[in-house]
Amino acid sequence: MIKVGIDPHSGFCGGVIRAITTAEDFLRRGDGQLWSLGEIVHNEAELSRLQSLGLQITSHSRLDALPKGATVLIRAHGEPPATYSRIKELGLNVIDCTCPVVLRLQDKVEAAAGRSQVLIFGKIGHPEVLALVGRTGGRALVVESPEALDALIDNGAIDVSAPIELFSQTTMSPGSYLQLEEKLRGIAGERLTVHHSICAQVAGRHKELAEFASEHDVIVFVSGSSSSNGKVLYQWCRSINPRTYLIGGPEELQPGWFGEAASAGVCGATSTPKWLLEKVAAAIKNLH
Ligand code: SF4
Repeated sequence: MIKVGIDPHSGFCGGVIRAITTAEDFLRRGDGQLWSLGEIVHNEAELSRLQSLGLQITSHSRLDALPKGATVLIRAHGEPPATYSRIKELGLNVIDCTCPVVLRLQDKVEAAAGRSQVLIFGKIGHPEVLALVGRTGGRALVVESPEALDALIDNGAIDVSAPIELFSQTTMSPGSYLQLEEKLRGIAGERLTVHHSICAQVAGRHKELAEFASEHDVIVFVSGSSSSNGKVLYQWCRSINPRTYLIGGPEELQPGWFGEAASAGVCGATSTPKWLLEKVAAAIKNLH
């Protein structure tokens, strides 16, 4: 019989728990309909659960179709100032669930843009990054990898002879951020200021997951397909344990992955609910 363990540190981060609890409380009170602006959490299974409680999902382009006085939830990633203005203009109510860690980062990025060039290490088009860039009036530049830095310097988008402040999206890999910092430090020297803005809950996960991934023969990483943090953490687990598989739910498990394995570990992203990890662990036991 295979031994199956669940990573005790996997599951929702504080920002996601806060947003989901706020939505659940609103829906239970029967205060009316609630629209999340974008997916409240990047996990299809948890989204369906919340939708069954009455949560609806809208998008920026469909905001003007909502009835006047409707309530819009801003998720943990935050939104740029233009979104708040649009919501106000349309006469909609807001429940702002921007994570306090993200809010502090937004304030720092805005302040930095008043004195330096701002460079953000993040995923182009990610909602958290769009909100950060929005706080700089569109002036901040986004770099997705240490390799992509060269193009920004070569085409003159970054002036390395002037002050630069570097920030990271909260869910990026600490190792890649360090590589980017060292590369830019080598070019800009003292003109570079680095802000350590990877969320402590994410940075800690790398170390914890490395231990967990090396303690099991097979790792099953559970994550929604649109979770940026899920992709980063899955790749990280895979670099430690090559027998790591990414799934969205128990129906995607393949018995062949566990051949001759004595133990399997189940873990996930900051957007993966605990109940789903438990379901996957039970399904692995049932395969044997
Ligand atoms: S990962 Fe950290 S910063 Fe991002 S929402 Fe979760 S708690 Fe907040």
